[in-house]
Amino acid sequence: MAEVLVLVDALDGSVKKPTLELLTAARQLGEPSAVVIGAPGGAAALKDQLAEYGAAKVYVAESDDIAGYSVAPKAEALAAVAGQASPAAILLASTAENKEIAARTAIKVGGGLLYDAVGFDGDGNVSQQIFGASIEVTAKVSKGTPVITVRPNSFAPEPSTGAAEEVAVSVDLSDAAKAAKIVDTVVEEKGSRPQLSDASVVVSGGRGIGKADNFEIIEKLADSLGAAVGASRAVVDAGWVPHTMQVGQTGVTVSPQLYVAVGISGAIQHRAGMQTSKTIVAINKDAEAPIFELADYGVVGDLFAVAPQLTDEIAKRK
Ligand code: FAD
Repeated sequence: MAEVLVLVDALDGSVKKPTLELLTAARQLGEPSAVVIGAPGGAAALKDQLAEYGAAKVYVAESDDIAGYSVAPKAEALAAVAGQASPAAILLASTAENKEIAARTAIKVGGGLLYDAVGFDGDGNVSQQIFGASIEVTAKVSKGTPVITVRPNSFAPEPSTGAAEEVAVSVDLSDAAKAAKIVDTVVEEKGSRPQLSDASVVVSGGRGIGKADNFEIIEKLADSLGAAVGASRAVVDAGWVPHTMQVGQTGVTVSPQLYVAVGISGAIQHRAGMQTSKTIVAINKDAEAPIFELADYGVVGDLFAVAPQLTDEIAKRK
């Protein structure tokens, strides 16, 4: 069976959930192999986790050069692994950085590139969301190795035993790959809540909350559900929450199991970022609000009455 390469995203010695989803999805296309690219010594902590999700091999490309530079070295290393493995496909989680790595890798391996996949069939057809997730198309790469970015939460991660046989990959980066060096490090915001982009439950607040101080109603509801917190652009533009929390066309795209929209009208640009959520719940005092066209469950009512009651009710059932 042909290998399917999965680029591993990890943080603090843990494989991120979207990578586990990719290892699960990869089984539909062939035999999953993980590719760990980074600073020396990082792969050791990840191997067991990758084995638990079915990785037959773990390609390890480690070098100080990779850690110290931007995306270009990762693309070079990933293309080098592809040259060695001749995979049926290369999968990456759909993040801004990975999309750049995917594009560069596709050029290097002479393959076709598909972004934002949400499903596969057995014949190489890929369901893909385009135009701000407003349209779903089926596409197929007709030349070279398919390089595919997959939306987080499109597949449920399922354990499966893999041998995780380690394969060391020598990293000999070109001067071009070292043209841009990282001079400052991005620090991921750490809080007790899950990260918005790959959370399985998201609670978002809109302009209906009225003012910044009231946003704690949204946060309390989110905490009762162990959810990430999002917001509409109206709330972000008002300066009530930071842009990192914006869900929508010009914000983060989410696809959780459960999305709760509180005081959000459901404008097309907001929908673009959340409409693939598996179950959508809306709380809005206007029965005609467009969000109800999309919602699986809706409460027509004042959020200041409904949201705290919901929070209390959930707390009681814990
Ligand atoms: P509103 O549309 O004002 O809706 C507020 C809702 O709250 C109403 O439905 C109202 O009935 C309800 N409400 C009020 N009081 C209560 C109450 N007490 N209890 C219950 N309900 C109440 N928007 C995004 O969200 N994300 C984007 O990424 C984004 N990108 C954009 C890009 C472009 C190029 C443009 C032009 C716009 C973009 N927008 C985006 C903005 C978008 O068009 C809407 O303006 C925005 O989503 C509206 O936010 P809202 O639903 O919170 O506010």
